[in-house]
Amino acid sequence: MKMFIRKFNCICFACFIFGMTAYSSDIKIKPENCRILLPENADGIKLFAAEELQKHLALITGIKIPVLKNEKDLKKDNFVFRIGIKAPDDKTELSKEEARYKITDNGVYIYGEDEIKQTGKSPLQEAINQKMNHAGTLFAVYSFLENELGVHWIEPGDKGICFKKKTSLDFSEKNFAWKPSLKMRQLRSSAWEWRHLKDEQKDVPVEFRVTEAEAKKKDTDEKVWLRRMRMGRSITLNYGHAFTRWWETYGKSHPEYFAMNEKGERKPWGKPDRIKMCVSSKALRDEIVNQWLSRYKENPDANQTINVCENDSGGYCRCPECMKLDVPVEGEAFGTNLTDRYIWFANHVLREVRKHDPNIRAVMYAYSVYRFPPRREKVDPGVVLGYVPGFLVPPEELKKFYGDWRKAGAKEFFLRPNDMHIDSGLPMGFEKKMFDNFKIGIENGIFATDYDSLHGFWDTSGLANYIIAKGHVYPEKPFEYWEDEYCSVFGNAKEDVKEYFRYWRNIFDERFYPNREEISKAGKYGNFRRGLMWKLSDFYKKDDFDKTDAILEKALKKELSADEKERVKMLVLSNKHARLTFNAILNSGKTEKKIAEEKLASSIELLKFRISNREQLPVAWPSKFTLEREFGDIAGIEWASIFKVDIKPYRRMDISWNFKADPQNVGLKEEWFKTPWNEIKSKWDKIRIDRAWENQKNIKSIPENLRNFLENYDGIGWYAASIQIDDNMRNKEIFLTFGAVDESCWVYINGVEVGKHIFEKPDDWKMPFNIRIDCGLKDNFRNIIIVRVEDKSGAGGIWKPVWISTKDK
Ligand SMILES: [Zn+2]
Repeated sequence: MKMFIRKFNCICFACFIFGMTAYSSDIKIKPENCRILLPENADGIKLFAAEELQKHLALITGIKIPVLKNEKDLKKDNFVFRIGIKAPDDKTELSKEEARYKITDNGVYIYGEDEIKQTGKSPLQEAINQKMNHAGTLFAVYSFLENELGVHWIEPGDKGICFKKKTSLDFSEKNFAWKPSLKMRQLRSSAWEWRHLKDEQKDVPVEFRVTEAEAKKKDTDEKVWLRRMRMGRSITLNYGHAFTRWWETYGKSHPEYFAMNEKGERKPWGKPDRIKMCVSSKALRDEIVNQWLSRYKENPDANQTINVCENDSGGYCRCPECMKLDVPVEGEAFGTNLTDRYIWFANHVLREVRKHDPNIRAVMYAYSVYRFPPRREKVDPGVVLGYVPGFLVPPEELKKFYGDWRKAGAKEFFLRPNDMHIDSGLPMGFEKKMFDNFKIGIENGIFATDYDSLHGFWDTSGLANYIIAKGHVYPEKPFEYWEDEYCSVFGNAKEDVKEYFRYWRNIFDERFYPNREEISKAGKYGNFRRGLMWKLSDFYKKDDFDKTDAILEKALKKELSADEKERVKMLVLSNKHARLTFNAILNSGKTEKKIAEEKLASSIELLKFRISNREQLPVAWPSKFTLEREFGDIAGIEWASIFKVDIKPYRRMDISWNFKADPQNVGLKEEWFKTPWNEIKSKWDKIRIDRAWENQKNIKSIPENLRNFLENYDGIGWYAASIQIDDNMRNKEIFLTFGAVDESCWVYINGVEVGKHIFEKPDDWKMPFNIRIDCGLKDNFRNIIIVRVEDKSGAGGIWKPVWISTKDK
């Protein structure tokens, strides 16, 4: 079978300046006639590059092209994709991670700078190991697929591969080269990491738990996606909180290494891995350099930088020597700005380390209370700053920061932003602000990035993830370029999809961004998305979902291919999911009976929707549920999951119950659980069960002395209420469904214990649970429910509504 080649004009000067192309002729190839050729001793990167090329060509043409390792197996008229084989006329050297390809009329050379430091693993594992391995050839395959065949990867996994089917392949003669301008390009990926999931997911609704194999598949897909986005690195930077194990190692033998507190003691202020160092200490510096030296002797390449990043959180050293290093302005509290002491420290470590090797650099975070430029110290040019900007810092402020640090002598920055932690899984529209700050970094010469981190909410934040990732490939290109590229996979609906995302982006720009500080404050400890979730109805309106639905409806009416239609439909589903999540969160905190019933109904609706669309929506579900749980079961999922199957909520109980405190813990001995109803009515006080007993202060129906007593009460409290069996409960299993009890409780019906819920795991105080009670209930009778609650510390009591629920026998 002879392939069809058409030549228009003669070959132009082929230029190897990267990104430039030389068009000369058109080449049409029958896929049946193609072969993929690997060098005989191909390493893992090349093997995986061939696998990826074969996979994508099979998707595009429907034909699985054979991969060969021997030139002799080729036929004369084969069109050959040579993977990891340099074009014969290419005499220039490849720089680190560089990717090139050359299209000729009898084949394509696809190659790059590869380096494998860890061998013996599968090609896939070698390929996704960004830390160890350079993947130039793989990047060349991706560039080729993208440029010549129009492939785009909008999310991890096969579903995220966007392409158009072809029966023949058309190429033009061309030389292409790409070399990364950022030496480290990193978006952290941890949503599916099994080491986190294996413990966390026990708290995820059972329908959403994954096996180790499923989690690993998802995790690998995400890491392959990162490679498709050409993430990788050609440098080894040693950074990250450097002293997390120091207390454990030196706490006893060398207390002088560690921060001194206000009382003059040197010990952890909180967790031992967060301990601060006494950075003025010569002994500390010597030990840091000693440790580095032993690593350096073993592996000089990996230790060209020395990590001096302080540990996370508070508790800075107050010893006189360290305090002398600070440059506070008048009236400034201790710990507001400690940059000078930390720059002094980094400079001095460098001085020592240079005695061993003059080229070593020290890496320090510009972060927390040392993110401000120094006031006195000059930054040694050998100090590399890992810049962790505050959350979504306004552009002017950010530019000034870079400028001021430069004025202080800083020469090298890499970007370590937390901007991705804004991602709540609702449509947020933060992509442009995040990208703008990335660009400011680029303009200020950052040489590396490390974004923390992808959250796996691809249905809503796929665009944000895509744009920031592709920005790393060609940092000079503007936001709109990537926005256009991403939306192009929706075919004729491209402009509608842009309009859809822009709608949410306007909301971010107009409603969230100007209030970002207030939102972060409301979320406690600067947690923006928690603040947003807790005040959601201030920022999203029902109308927003109606309007965006209308945009997507318009998109669906366009003439679309089956794949394009599927993609728009996914957005429709995603918007529905966002609306249901919004509804479920909307009434949180409100306790009126009717609203509580509506809220539960909306939580159940949301959970059912999630269960039936688990596979259709590209969401890291465990990550989603963990987040909502962390914010206080914000969407009511924990609560709803109790009811979703066969236990049905029947009626919510009144939120006013009777109460008696038991500070001496004599109630059990005196059998308070047998207290008759007339005594409860006349002698016990009223209390609300929708809030902790500490938080009854504003409830006028509760006697003032009790309110005052409970304000700081830890101990035992007894709650009482009564129920009557009615027609709808007869012949059914009956449960009391508690929203949450802080901490442990024992439930008595008519004087007999029927169940208990004991505080064992850290989250038990906020978890809903069922206690079956029908065994103790009598018909035509006022049944007395008494609950003994034990609270050992912090808030206590029954603090979320209680429901009567039923299950058919
Ligand atoms: Zn000190």
